[in-house]
Amino acid sequence: MPTLFKTLAELGEKLEATKKRLLMIDLVSSFLQNLEADEIEPAVSMLLGRPFPKWSQRTLEVSWTTLHSVILRITGSDWNSFLKVFNETGDAGSATMAIFEKSKSKKQAVLFEKALTIAEVRRSFEAISETSGHGSRERKERQIAVLLSSASPLEAKYLVKIFIGETRTGFHEGLMEQAVAKAFQIPPELVQKAGMIIGDIGEVASIARTQGREALAHVKFRVFRPVDLMLAQMANDVAEALREHGGVSAFEYKYDGARVQIHKHKDEIKIFSRRLSEATGSLPEVVEEVKANIKAEEVILEGEVVAVDREGHPIPFQHLMRRFRRVHAVEDMAEEVPLKLYLFDILYLNGESLVSQPYTRRRQILAENAGEIPLTAMKTIDNVQEAEAFMKDALDAGHEGLMAKKPDSVYAVGVRGKRWLKIKPVLEPLDLVIVGAEQGYGRRFNWLSDYYLAARDSETGEFLTVGKTFKGLTDAEIIEMTRRLKEITVDEKPRRVNVIPKIVVEVAYNEIQKSPKYRCGMALRFARITRIRDDKTPEQADTIQRVREIYERQFLKKGRYTAG
Ligand code: AMP
Repeated sequence: MPTLFKTLAELGEKLEATKKRLLMIDLVSSFLQNLEADEIEPAVSMLLGRPFPKWSQRTLEVSWTTLHSVILRITGSDWNSFLKVFNETGDAGSATMAIFEKSKSKKQAVLFEKALTIAEVRRSFEAISETSGHGSRERKERQIAVLLSSASPLEAKYLVKIFIGETRTGFHEGLMEQAVAKAFQIPPELVQKAGMIIGDIGEVASIARTQGREALAHVKFRVFRPVDLMLAQMANDVAEALREHGGVSAFEYKYDGARVQIHKHKDEIKIFSRRLSEATGSLPEVVEEVKANIKAEEVILEGEVVAVDREGHPIPFQHLMRRFRRVHAVEDMAEEVPLKLYLFDILYLNGESLVSQPYTRRRQILAENAGEIPLTAMKTIDNVQEAEAFMKDALDAGHEGLMAKKPDSVYAVGVRGKRWLKIKPVLEPLDLVIVGAEQGYGRRFNWLSDYYLAARDSETGEFLTVGKTFKGLTDAEIIEMTRRLKEITVDEKPRRVNVIPKIVVEVAYNEIQKSPKYRCGMALRFARITRIRDDKTPEQADTIQRVREIYERQFLKKGRYTAG
């Protein structure tokens, strides 16, 4: 019997209603056991808020504006009910359910005569994702309208959540791994490992059900299916990295670029970004370089692509991102922003998975297969002085810092582990003034938790915004900050206030970028509040001149991007 989408939506409600992890795992595990084999992957994906498996390059490409206009149309526009629930919960799915319920009571069950199945929902998603080209927006709107019109209010809630890609049930991928393990009696480590290799937990569940444990133990990488990446944690300095790694670490330059996963089969090459979306078309010269140098038949490599100036010096990250965004006119950009590729890992070579090999062995295999493509600069070091000198070399060459990799470590994904540590020099913090704030999301929905940070112009006395952050304060501090900001509010818009510049905070950040976003032309990257500086008056805060000075100083080491 095909499973109804309603059953999935009801499960979503139960998950949303509890915080007990074990109960969540039990609920999902019995749900999975009752599915037909071909429903398993779609259901797992949908429960995680994805219309398709993780590795898939298919996307729905439905904007909120489109979704919004369809919802308005088919419910006969009761937008106030939507906003009321949305403002209470911050959840578009629940708000959609509310207006569906209202419109249902008005229109008396003209909607949802036919019960939707999980398979039908997947087919609709496929059809929507395949709709492209001229007039596609109208066609998509029609397809979405047909799908939503056959949904009950509860089903509409979950369809909208999948459209937006956010379930908010608290049931994440790690819990799904455990539910799959439980449902099909497979050890959780095996589920996790297989997931990493084939790139999707839904598919793992489906193999577990149809082919069992043995088959899972032997799954292989599939070229052109991007897989999750190994992540690094922050270390304060090289000494900490050496301690964590038991006295010896492989230090590599940390390049300030974009991570790429390169898949090759014979002459065909595909490049995926860190978010696992395909970037082959944006990086033609990288493709050519791989083609010319990598002789292996089948391989999955990892590296960092760095933007450089005409002399080959690295330039700030933001210019590289333009390359990833601009698929059109790529060749012009290739000339404007040349790229350099550094390889640092190899996951798979000619039918053999290398992820269980230690770092040193993988690095050696990588070197044997890289041709003329440079590997990341690397030195195995066992003392602090030498590591500090290597850090200085990296910074002098305009790079971001160092990565420290544990020499005997396997390639492991999922949790951020201490096997890879990143070490960056800290830029001096700035004391900035809060000039505005916005209410947050989820738990922070009613608090002013997102702050506009400004520096004073010492010439005009004006406060100029240089960044925005919701990071760094505890809940208690945010509640107190909300109270204080309300007292100094001069202008109130929905969910946003402008305040008198009074409160000074110390802010850490990773970089100062050139940016059109703010009037001063600069923006802090990864800003976070490190302290509330009630000991300082706004006049004692840092000036915009100081921010500009730090911005300029970045270029003493780095190259500078010049257009044209
Ligand atoms: P972060 O993005 O701050 O978590 O730092 C990790 C990122 O540093 C990776 O995702 C890579 O994009 C980048 N990276 C730069 N150099 C290296 C390297 N030598 N090894 C691994 N990752 C590197």
